Amino acid sequence: MKSTTRKKNVTKCHYLDLSGQVFGELCVKRATEERKEGTVVWLCECSCGKQVKLSRRQLIRGYRVDCGHIKLASLNIRQQVFGKLKVIQPMTELGNQTKWLCQCDCGNQTIVYYYNLRNGHTQSCGCLKAVSPLTIVNGTAIELIKSTTVNSNNTSGFRGVSRCHNSSKWRADITFKGEQFHLGNFETREAAHEARQAAEKHFYSPLLSQYDNLPKF
Ligand SMILES: [Zn+2]
Ligand SMILES: [Zn+2]
Repeated sequence: MKSTTRKKNVTKCHYLDLSGQVFGELCVKRATEERKEGTVVWLCECSCGKQVKLSRRQLIRGYRVDCGHIKLASLNIRQQVFGKLKVIQPMTELGNQTKWLCQCDCGNQTIVYYYNLRNGHTQSCGCLKAVSPLTIVNGTAIELIKSTTVNSNNTSGFRGVSRCHNSSKWRADITFKGEQFHLGNFETREAAHEARQAAEKHFYSPLLSQYDNLPKF
């Protein structure tokens, strides 16, 4: 036995008796002879029946309010459903980083991180995202060029038409296959818009007619 005197002192004077007290799910049974960070380590019994040893500091500060079974239960998402995924089994130890094997509604199986399921980031094997794919013809997304949505920072009200920086003119541009083409500067935004429309016809029409001839699902 090392330092019996010291132990005796500690037992007698230096700690508050916590036995019988309840902290969260834990009921303190008795003091142990262990010390942690200068405080007594207590033997506690959890509501689930498991016994754990925790220091006074851990108990008082509320670091631990159960043996860990509550956290473990929330980490165990077996059989839970997230979007189209039903969780089958953990591939690693339970935790935030656990990879779970999931069964997707579509029949595929996939492995997803716990946090991606919890935060809703992953809700299918990937088949959900494939529901409305962009149709790519010759490297151009048809839905984007067909779209009539005007960017919120657009000041002209027409796609591809913007005010020139150094003059009162309007410039027209078009982006095609990742490349921007300057169509010229115009006195009015309507004229710029016309130029843009002509360019759309020139660049996009062949693609759109190809697209219109594609088999639709
Ligand atoms: Zn417990
Ligand atoms: Zn799927």
